[in-house]
Amino acid sequence: MISGPSGSGKTTLIETLVQETGFRRVITATTRAPRVGEVPGRDYRFLSRADFEVLRDQDGFLEWAEVHGQLYGTPRSEISGPESEWVFLVIDVQGHRSLRTRRIPLTSIFIKANSLDELERRLARRNTESKADIARRLARAHSECAAESEYDHVVVNERVEDACRQIRQILLGSAPLGAPPSPLKPTRSP
Ligand code: 5GP
Repeated sequence: MISGPSGSGKTTLIETLVQETGFRRVITATTRAPRVGEVPGRDYRFLSRADFEVLRDQDGFLEWAEVHGQLYGTPRSEISGPESEWVFLVIDVQGHRSLRTRRIPLTSIFIKANSLDELERRLARRNTESKADIARRLARAHSECAAESEYDHVVVNERVEDACRQIRQILLGSAPLGAPPSPLKPTRSP
């Protein structure tokens, strides 16, 4: 299970790790609009607020949270694979707390840029958010980084290859004997 502020580079890391490990990334749901280049079903399940709320009220999410004024949630249907399957789940700090509270077995990793200045540069460079949105995301990055001690591991993403190597090491160390390593082992519904 991976968290990190916007601009920490977690999406690129996960794409690389999915290729390297063959583990599936859980596709979560959101009410925010797709960014340029995002593909429904590959990046997110993009839902209207009404559809999200219907699914939420039917207990269709393992966890859900409001982030930057939009709703995000992990559909239960996405993690109902075999118990032995290990997957990557990328959610925010609220989602992490929710899974921890319910003692869902997982290995959690917090990804961060080496400085908030670097985070700001990355957000500006990717050119997908408005100035106001970037300011909101930076402000939130402060509070998210304050939660890094709640995670099993913290990885500073300066170079993708180095960060991926560190994460692979963490996964190897997390594996129960004889089982494949993973950041999240799905279990039965809590
Ligand atoms: P973004 O809009 O930048 O794609 O995502 C904003 C934040 O929402 C990120 O921290 C991302 O990890 C988080 N997020 C994405 N999906 C979920 C989810 O299903 N649950 C929770 N709690 N957070 C999510």
